[in-house]
Amino acid sequence: MASVQLYDTTLRDGAQREGISFSVVDKLTIAQKLDELGIHFIEGGWPGSNPKDVEFFNKAQNLALSHAKLVAFGSTRHPKAKAEADVNLLALANAGVKIATIVGKSSGPQVTQVLETTLEENLSMVADSVGFLKTKGLTVFFDAEHFFDGFKANPDYSLRCLQAAAEAGASCLVLCDTNGGTLPNEIVAAVEAAKQLTAVPLGIHAHNDGELAVANTLAAVNAGVSQVQGTINGYGERCGNANLCSVIPDLKLKMGINCITDKQLAKLTEVSHYISEAANLIPDTFLPYVGSSAFSHKGGLHVSGMAKWAESYQHVDPTKVGNQPRVLVSELSGKGNILYKARERGLDLPSRGKEVQKLLEQVKLLESRGFQYDNAEASFELLVHRVKPDYQPPFELVDFMVVVEKKRRPPSQKNLEEMLSEAMVKVKVSTEIIHTVAEGNGPVNALDQALRKALLQFYPSLAQVRLVDYKVRILEESIGTGAQIRVLIESSDGVNEWRTVGSSTNIIEASWLALADSLEYWLLKHKTGD
Ligand SMILES: [Zn+2]
Repeated sequence: MASVQLYDTTLRDGAQREGISFSVVDKLTIAQKLDELGIHFIEGGWPGSNPKDVEFFNKAQNLALSHAKLVAFGSTRHPKAKAEADVNLLALANAGVKIATIVGKSSGPQVTQVLETTLEENLSMVADSVGFLKTKGLTVFFDAEHFFDGFKANPDYSLRCLQAAAEAGASCLVLCDTNGGTLPNEIVAAVEAAKQLTAVPLGIHAHNDGELAVANTLAAVNAGVSQVQGTINGYGERCGNANLCSVIPDLKLKMGINCITDKQLAKLTEVSHYISEAANLIPDTFLPYVGSSAFSHKGGLHVSGMAKWAESYQHVDPTKVGNQPRVLVSELSGKGNILYKARERGLDLPSRGKEVQKLLEQVKLLESRGFQYDNAEASFELLVHRVKPDYQPPFELVDFMVVVEKKRRPPSQKNLEEMLSEAMVKVKVSTEIIHTVAEGNGPVNALDQALRKALLQFYPSLAQVRLVDYKVRILEESIGTGAQIRVLIESSDGVNEWRTVGSSTNIIEASWLALADSLEYWLLKHKTGD
């Protein structure tokens, strides 16, 4: 059986999708999730291109990856320059990783018209750059940019580029359909030509502009490539990259290639949703395998068929990819999921009894109001505590008021016109009621300040907690300003990060709920009575 290694580039190519901006913390937690899924290589970013990626690689040193290897991405040296003086290659050598992927041109017309150098110089650029990283002790993968288009225009030259990388010591030659317009039969022909040329393992990196990225990837595997590059949910530049959430189950369930374990495959849906939340994108319900509609049955005929024979209207068993057939969701399976989630977080809940039932009802009710717990584990944990009869919250909200004022200035100071926000908060800590007022640069900031002012008197160590990310999502977009608003907050105390969620038709209330959850969660974890 062929063996295939999975290479994820969600954090680099995936982040090129319009509208995606991952924070460093997002990137670190996504890397962790990809590791749990069984991905072999995680491309973390381009350390030579931006400070955020440098910070990511610094912090990633502390990631406890059980299986995956972290890869840094960069490009070949500049024309007529020295590899050992190339800032981008030096950043790769200093990224603290053992593997680097460098992209280089492998298409004649791209070299002469875009890079504006000679075909020979480009070959030297490829060889020098691979060779330099090898001398630094790195394993090097070579991304052959525009390989398939180049192969059509001038096959000999594209193959010579591969040869140059192979001779310089590249461990994998990744054939890229950079513009995403190649057809599966063309992919096969070019892969076969590359196979004739070299014994170095080949990889495939396909874009989806002709909606063929997954098909092209599978065709390349059939033709003999052993490394598959793609992204979760197919995120990527323009129309995206090959969607690993489809490629992986296709490889494993249809082609019998055991690229990850059964247990890891069962995490696929969760990972897909987690990453769409982190990307602040609404999960696409119609995605194959992982979408919530992928196994939902609306037609009466289908539903009655499914009742007789579960496989009558579905191509695979949805539980294999961690999804579920929608018509068959029972109260019991809902309970099972919640118990599983609670235990995963080390929380103790009896499998029977009122508490679980109450928790299940709460989750269902809150989800119907727009709360979403896939990426807000701290809020979920609080729900589990709150159904316990003896739970004592560290504080309770009595009420709050926020005033937003746009101050008029005399015409001479027109440029100084500013918005002022002030929040009044009343909270109860054990039997005491505290009343505070604070100003902020916006209503949420003012609320945060006022709430902290109240709580710091009782819990001084709360000063370490800060907000690192704040995401707003409008649900049911067609309803306009009456729509439900979900706020996701990411907080940190310098050691740990946690995420909380709030939802309301009012953005301030949604923010307040997420904010209060964040502080309550931290206090719960640090019951030191300071
Ligand atoms: Zn790409």
